Amino acid sequence: MNVPFLDLKASYLELQSEIDTAIQRVLHSGSYIGGAEVEAFENEFADFCGARHVVGVANGLDALRLALLALGVGPGDEIIVPSHTFIATWLSVSQCGATPVPVEPIEGGFNMDPQQVADRVTPRTKGIIPVHLYGEPADLASLIDIANRHGLFVLEDAAQAHGAVYRGRRIGSHGHAVAWSFYPGKNLGAFGDGGAVSTNDEALARRVRMIGNYGSRTKYVNDVIGYNSRLDPVQAAILRAKLPRIDEWNARRSSIAERYSQAFASQLAAPAGPQERQGHAWHLYAVRHPERDQLQKQLSDVGVTTLIHYPRPPHLQEAYASLGFGPGSFPMAEQYASTLLSLPIGPHLTQAQVDHVIDAVMNGVSSIS
Ligand SMILES: *Cc1c(COP(=O)(O)O)cnc(C)c1O
Repeated sequence: MNVPFLDLKASYLELQSEIDTAIQRVLHSGSYIGGAEVEAFENEFADFCGARHVVGVANGLDALRLALLALGVGPGDEIIVPSHTFIATWLSVSQCGATPVPVEPIEGGFNMDPQQVADRVTPRTKGIIPVHLYGEPADLASLIDIANRHGLFVLEDAAQAHGAVYRGRRIGSHGHAVAWSFYPGKNLGAFGDGGAVSTNDEALARRVRMIGNYGSRTKYVNDVIGYNSRLDPVQAAILRAKLPRIDEWNARRSSIAERYSQAFASQLAAPAGPQERQGHAWHLYAVRHPERDQLQKQLSDVGVTTLIHYPRPPHLQEAYASLGFGPGSFPMAEQYASTLLSLPIGPHLTQAQVDHVIDAVMNGVSSIS
């Protein structure tokens, strides 16, 4: 039996007529940049994530970068970021001319440790970017408290957290701004690139829109040196068709996660304890194993595709050599890079496929040890 890591086409087939209709609607509208479709998605996604304003942009990296620029980040500023994250979180900071200041995850978890964040604040610190990694909300209450004490902003990287809930409210408006990606593999994915910024701050939303629109509020009047970063209306229409399904798809992810956690309880460290599973969007289900590469090969031999998120932390990338970090600088991020393995958890896995993954993991783990 084959278990793909994520069957993207399945989400199209499930919604084929809605999506075909949505694309046709855009083609017949004669409006191919911005327009009613993008505006409708922005409003619907704002309702979904509980934010007053949503601004569509070209991708998740731009969502982070434009939000940082709108928050006034520039050269000389320091932004606190996780050591263990996808590199886009760091790149957005560097693209503004600011410096990413990494902190390690909390012991036993994947998200940034607020205590270490507090320790890293300097007079140059301007903000904090928590990432809700793998779909698990970060400790926002502590981070927002630190931010308020030091006059910093909190920009949430929610690229993996569509539909996640923190303390009874969906991710979308806890921090000053929230950056979203609609990359196809995300919980809410387009069939191409897409992204958005959500916020309750109207002036900030307008600034993001202005910077992503050539630095212009009024056509041919340019206030700042801006960018061209827009959400494509075809993608907006596809996202509108998918949005009503997200809760159901996330519930399916969550039930697969529960099955995995129960099955592996005696064998593997679960990616989240019972407390953390509340509100988790289960973008990824990452297990830890000291012989990760061997486990990955065993799974692959029986048709189970797994991925590694992420095999090399940002601080050890050539791109960040200039920051002067080396092996040992962030031991937890490095340890995660060598021991984590993401199992398939897509909403279109069949019961039989989930069973097959469980058997394959149990057999793999017992044959290694
Ligand atoms: C996917 C992702 C991004 C970037 O999104 P793109 O749309 O690919 O630019 C940023 N941060 C995290 C944590 C991500 O997983």
